[in-house]
Amino acid sequence: MNKFWSPAIQSLVPYTPGEQPRIDGLTKLNTNENPYPPSPAVEHAIKHFSVERLRLYPDPDAGRLKDALASEYKLNREQIFVGNGSDEVLALAFMAFFRQTRPLLMPEISYSFYDVYANLFEIDYKKIPLDESFRVQLSDYSHENGGIIFANPNAPTGIAIELADIEALLKRNTESLVLVDEAYVDFGAESATSLVNKYPNVLVVQTFSKSRSLAGLRIGYAFGHPELIEALERVKNSFNSYPLDMFAIEAGCASLSDRAYLNKTCQQIIATRERSAEALEALNFVVCPSSTNFLFAHHRTLTGAELMTYLRERKILVRHFNKPEIANYLRITVGTDEEMERLIAALKAHPNIAS
Ligand SMILES: *Cc1c(COP(=O)(O)O)cnc(C)c1O
Repeated sequence: MNKFWSPAIQSLVPYTPGEQPRIDGLTKLNTNENPYPPSPAVEHAIKHFSVERLRLYPDPDAGRLKDALASEYKLNREQIFVGNGSDEVLALAFMAFFRQTRPLLMPEISYSFYDVYANLFEIDYKKIPLDESFRVQLSDYSHENGGIIFANPNAPTGIAIELADIEALLKRNTESLVLVDEAYVDFGAESATSLVNKYPNVLVVQTFSKSRSLAGLRIGYAFGHPELIEALERVKNSFNSYPLDMFAIEAGCASLSDRAYLNKTCQQIIATRERSAEALEALNFVVCPSSTNFLFAHHRTLTGAELMTYLRERKILVRHFNKPEIANYLRITVGTDEEMERLIAALKAHPNIAS
């Protein structure tokens, strides 16, 4: 606390990202990063980048990246917004749409940045519990609201929502915006992008950080009706005109040019995920059905905290959340086959894990 702080800052509780320690020989399965490098087309674009260009400001509209997204996802440029990571796109969307008199609805267990943004922007919100199988039941989102946000697949459970359920929600919830955060959609869920041309009340947010292996570059984007995109542009241009630098624009376009690489690496991760889930179940873990690049699991007899500490001592990092409902769970990023074998071997070596 400091007398120079704005009063609202004193009560802020910021989001805590997964740690990024520099330890040799670490198996890092804690922040849902992709274990594979970005497409070779990205490396080529960065290697051939002319440094002389950096003296100029980047295109404030990132027009080339928007055009590349438009062509890849069969939309118009007016239906696309781009930002510095999807976290920034989400923050701008909270400002643009959710500062309403009625509360924002979000799942009780979801991406913890949502309540951080709501608190930062002084947005009233109401959390809707998951059902007994840890699913988001959109039929429960009937409370009067000034907006609805959820991740599909949900994080950290990894469980996907049916596209038909999202469409039914858009049909009945016509008076407020529904934001679908699709950070993990390429790993096996059905995208709501196909609904953007049909419904003026849906905003779909995606990222290059997970399936495209570009977390370090910070590129996120949103698809929606041109009037929704205009609201985001207004907020963005009242805050930072140049959220995407020249490297991000070039490398983002290159990544979009290589659909085969995206498909290949996603399929590899899905195959590793399914094998790892089976191996964990054989070790007495209960594993949520994942449509993402991570597994959300708890052991039948050992606590999440003790397993996290045990693995950490063996230089394997996984994520554990200090929330009562999920305190026994671990969120394990799907790495390479070799990394997952290291995890399984370490768990097998635990004195109280029967195999
Ligand atoms: C990783 C993640 C994001 C943020 O992605 P960035 O584009 O790297 O900011 C957003 N939503 C969810 C649910 C995520 O897991």
